Amino acid sequence: MTSPPCKYALVTGASRGIGRAVALALSRMGYPVLINYLTNKKAAEDCAQQIRDEGGMAQLLPFDVSIEAEIEEALGRWEAEHPNDWIEVLVNNAGIRKDNLMVFMPSEDWRYILNLHLDGFFYVTRRLLKNMVSHRYGRIVNVVSLSGIKGLPGQTNYAAAKAGIIAAGKALAQEVGKRGVTVNAVAPGYIQTDMTQDLDEAHLKGLIPLNRFGKPEEVADAVAFLASPKASYITGEVLSINGGLYT
Ligand code: NAP
Repeated sequence: MTSPPCKYALVTGASRGIGRAVALALSRMGYPVLINYLTNKKAAEDCAQQIRDEGGMAQLLPFDVSIEAEIEEALGRWEAEHPNDWIEVLVNNAGIRKDNLMVFMPSEDWRYILNLHLDGFFYVTRRLLKNMVSHRYGRIVNVVSLSGIKGLPGQTNYAAAKAGIIAAGKALAQEVGKRGVTVNAVAPGYIQTDMTQDLDEAHLKGLIPLNRFGKPEEVADAVAFLASPKASYITGEVLSINGGLYT
């Protein structure tokens, strides 16, 4: 007897930080979660174990979001092993920074950041879109950044990549809205994760009206809402989560 179809959520970069908190939040909504990561298997396993300890379902799905062939291989294999199942929630979260003033920025750092964020968004989303469209339901949430809205010095590469995802998401929202697929973004400010460990929180928090860095869970709750049926009339939007740090 074949088991009934199961609808999954895929979170890229879910081994740590914001992605991990998002994976837990989506699991608490009832989704079996595919935990993507790059190299940190131990952290990904910890995340999966926490989900299982809470009674949820989690599976590791490592691939490099910037390499199309790896995405195809991993998702193709997963689909072959799960012929009745499909991924209806995609959170494009994987990311890193390689900050430098533009005048000193090596070309490879410019290309790497654009490739990882912008190409990664394109490859993974395009790969999953057909299934969402044919099932006439899907939720895509892109984790972008305040830097992609207002730009931050030292981040021309990162700001360009995140701004590109914002614009591509707005265009895609108009392509797939009639098919029940929504595309939104969250734009965090400073969030306490490994990515911001090297920043001077004591100094920077003075610039933030709420006077602190955010927590990954505070981003994850917003992502979970946008990924839920409750957000059914919201698409093409960018939700800032930055403690009031704007201009
Ligand atoms: P983090 O704690 O450093 O975690 C980064 C995650 O991305 C890890 O799971 C890492 O996997 C994964 N990753 C990195 N490169 C990858 C690749 N090529 N393919 C697949 N996975 C990859 O970062 P974070 O702070 O949670 O950031 C998550 C997202 O939020 C990023 O897109 C970032 O730009 C955005 N964001 C963060 C902040 C902030 O203040 N933290 C602010 C605005 C936006 P491994 O564990 O295997 O390395």
